Amino acid sequence: MKKVRLGVYSAILSFAMTLTGALSPSIMYANDNPAIEGNKEADMKVTLLGTGSPLLSMERFGTSTLIEAGSEKLLFDAGRGAALRLNQINVLPGEINKLFITHLHSDHLIGIPDIWLTGTLTTTGHRSTEFEVWGPTGTKQMMEDLKKAFKPDIDTRIENGYIVPTGAETIGHDIEPGVVYEKNGVQVIAFLVDHDIDPAYGYRINYKGRSVVISGDTSYNENIIKYGKGVDLLIHEVIAARPEDLKKIKAFNKIVSIHTTPEQAGKVFQLTRPKLAVYTHIVLLGDLSEPEANLLYRTQSVYDGNVIVGNDLMTFEIGKNVTAKQLKYTWIP
Ligand SMILES: [Zn+2]
Ligand SMILES: [Zn+2]
Repeated sequence: MKKVRLGVYSAILSFAMTLTGALSPSIMYANDNPAIEGNKEADMKVTLLGTGSPLLSMERFGTSTLIEAGSEKLLFDAGRGAALRLNQINVLPGEINKLFITHLHSDHLIGIPDIWLTGTLTTTGHRSTEFEVWGPTGTKQMMEDLKKAFKPDIDTRIENGYIVPTGAETIGHDIEPGVVYEKNGVQVIAFLVDHDIDPAYGYRINYKGRSVVISGDTSYNENIIKYGKGVDLLIHEVIAARPEDLKKIKAFNKIVSIHTTPEQAGKVFQLTRPKLAVYTHIVLLGDLSEPEANLLYRTQSVYDGNVIVGNDLMTFEIGKNVTAKQLKYTWIP
């Protein structure tokens, strides 16, 4: 087996390739000024840890987004590889003890045991407080069931004194729409979206007058327009398929109907006018390549603002301006 080493370095995004329309004066990009090392006035920092779908990909891990605001570190969804991506930005899984789930599909959950349990170990954070999870009805039960599934591991580690018992405890909350979290100036509002599992939520996160909306998995949805109006950063899912595949493959039509096409997302962006819109949870059906999917071109057919296709480890700093930076990783064989 090849030995792989991951190194993290900051790289300047070639946004000129991907931006639509004229640059808004409220947005600065790293490639406009290579001296920009960070947005020093930023109140919030958002990192896309995973931007993929359930499909296996080394480039796009499962959906997960980290939001840092003041003293708070909040994770939204925990898809495949979220703990690894956290490690790449030097955040220990043990530092994460607040997780918000959009819906109970496995591609948004499969990274939970890794963050929760790996985070209890001495070298990976040594969590000493409970791991708290907010999500749709069934979240509380799921966390209790996970505790049962991992009981032999947890019991042994506690017996041997390797972990702090409370660090392996979980607290699950079955949420209703509305404010679900408010602490240290950070407010999290859950709102209903449309997917094939009920309920499914999107989230709006407010801090010091800055705001981020995460769509979750959804078809075109009015609530995103309601909660996304004038938001600093709108993180939206997207799906694409070839027209000929949609004619031939019935199942693809069903999948597309529970997600959002670039034209539909463009309409959402046009009605909300975020400072910046970014795609995550990128679902390309039938081995459609990203250049062929032409997500930005299709979005721009209905939207004249700023939109980009997100990548894993893309980071946004939100203050008076929204700045974006790509953290890249190298594979060294
Ligand atoms: Zn889903
Ligand atoms: Zn999903």
